Amino acid sequence: MFKNYINGEWIDGKTGKDNINPSDITDIVGTYARADVQQANNAIEAASAAQPMWSASTLQHRFDVLDFVGTEILARKQELGNLLAREEGKILPEAVGEVVRAGYIFKFFAGEALRCSGEHIRSVRPGVEIDILRQPIGVVGLISPWNYPIAIPAWKIAPALAFGNAVVFKPAELAPGCGWALADIIARSGIPKGVFNLVMGSGSTVGNVMVNHPKVDGISFTGSVEVGRQIGSQCGQKMKKVQLEMGGKNPLVVLDDADLNVAVNAAVNGAYFSTGQRCTASSRFVVTEGIHDRFVKAVTERLARLKVDDALAEGTEIGPVVDDTQLSKDLEYVEVAQKEGGKVVYGGERLKRAKNGYYMSPALITETTSAMRINKEEVFGPVASLIRVKNYDEALAVANDTPFGLSSGICTTSLNHASHFKEYAQAGMVMVNLPTAGVDYHVPFGGRKGSSYGSREQGKYAVEFYTTVKTCYIAP
Ligand code: NAD
Repeated sequence: MFKNYINGEWIDGKTGKDNINPSDITDIVGTYARADVQQANNAIEAASAAQPMWSASTLQHRFDVLDFVGTEILARKQELGNLLAREEGKILPEAVGEVVRAGYIFKFFAGEALRCSGEHIRSVRPGVEIDILRQPIGVVGLISPWNYPIAIPAWKIAPALAFGNAVVFKPAELAPGCGWALADIIARSGIPKGVFNLVMGSGSTVGNVMVNHPKVDGISFTGSVEVGRQIGSQCGQKMKKVQLEMGGKNPLVVLDDADLNVAVNAAVNGAYFSTGQRCTASSRFVVTEGIHDRFVKAVTERLARLKVDDALAEGTEIGPVVDDTQLSKDLEYVEVAQKEGGKVVYGGERLKRAKNGYYMSPALITETTSAMRINKEEVFGPVASLIRVKNYDEALAVANDTPFGLSSGICTTSLNHASHFKEYAQAGMVMVNLPTAGVDYHVPFGGRKGSSYGSREQGKYAVEFYTTVKTCYIAP
């Protein structure tokens, strides 16, 4: 059994859970410990005891720890990519790409540990000086989803440690393998005991303890809207700092003047790669009348050529859905869309492959409207719906007609429309002539409206969540 890491020791769980390969459900990646309430409490107490010493550690020490972790992740990219593809179902090249991203995130925050500084300001009163200090918030609880099992933990753990916080980290139960491998590297990085703790297990047990424990000063959560809302209100009650990254219903607008090839590439990549299991996936194509038929034809032809199979097999372009529950949900949404008047022009069916896995053909549903459930609720699978519009103004209105606001894309050759969209798309990230998914590791990531709450993750903006400022006066 893969154990939890609490106060510098590897601790067995009283129970464990099998991590199953969605490409081949007879393949068990491993059995991972499930922490109980007592173990979660122990991890928090250990983090609380270790945090003051970590906060006082030298910047060189923090740099060395983070740099060590980044270096080892990069050196083991193939092996870790293999593990990621096996436990989550992302195809191997995407999985290796995610591992590399995680490695560079640690390298980036090694540098940020050195660059984090306050401000020196002169007072309006004579002779008085003001220092704004940036200090760690304390113990942070980091709760991550299954769909980016190494990149999301990396972009939470690395800034937390860089800025002097102690960490209690809980990966998702569906894909804990990468989180465990990351913990194993961190445990060997020279980090003092108690500063970093891994507690695997269920959200309702372990996650709930983290959210409600008085010694946890902040929660950074990525996952579903439902759980995020619950955590947000619990943290509000307890006056804890909280950062929530949740779902999306991301539009890709395609205008008549778009380069068709560019639009089709952005659409297919954005909606279906990573099996559509990305919070930034384009799930709504908003297409103007003049290009509509050509766009549908070209996307359909491309979908028909895509190879859906084992995530580890050579040449696979779309891997399996993560599990049985998610697959049923994806198929159900295709049915719901059809019942509401949508037309399935391609895919949306369960597929059989040589290995017994959760395979599904990528679905394109046309003739849909904003009022339909398929355009209101996040599916989180290889399913995209299309809304036909008259012109740019209607496209922008439809793109913004959603309670979500994570990523928003447009394909156009008009500088006017691109600039206008950049300004008025209600989203945290805007992509022109690019897929809605995928930002670099050194820039802010996050959304607006129902997609996100609190300050941004990644890049230099991560300092806002993982530190607090103290305003200090000195008079002569
Ligand atoms: P989820 O909400 O079911 O679980 C996320 C994490 O929260 C898991 O670790 C889970 O164990 C934990 N959890 C569940 N209940 C909890 C509780 N009551 N208290 C504390 N923790 C609890 O989400 P998921 O199915 O793992 O991931 C898919 C979702 O994540 C999608 O909605 C997707 O859009 C979202 N997501 C968002 C982003 C983003 O940055 N906006 C990125 C990736 C995924």
